[in-house]
Amino acid sequence: MPRNGRSSTHNKKATAIKAMKDLESTMLANQDTTILNSATSLILRIGKRHGIRKSGYFGFSICRKCKKALIPGRNSRLRIRSKSLKISCSDCKAVRTLGPSFARD
Ligand SMILES: [Zn+2]
Repeated sequence: MPRNGRSSTHNKKATAIKAMKDLESTMLANQDTTILNSATSLILRIGKRHGIRKSGYFGFSICRKCKKALIPGRNSRLRIRSKSLKISCSDCKAVRTLGPSFARD
């Protein structure tokens, strides 16, 4: 493994965040399960590597258990209960709660 000190740590995180945003919009624009699932695994991989956590709710969620994109009405159920979102995965039945502190300004 050669080390040629050509790493720009600064830009990496910004690039990673941008890549995640791009992936998120790709996921929302696509209905194809294959694309959705590969985008999901990429998001998880980038997030893990760079320590980026998704904040808020962007119209979809990722099942922590089976690592699939959860799209309400397609493979997940979304419920709103006392200001928090409850998303249940129809594949593995895992329930995820978001909020109530995810208000966006
Ligand atoms: Zn699941």
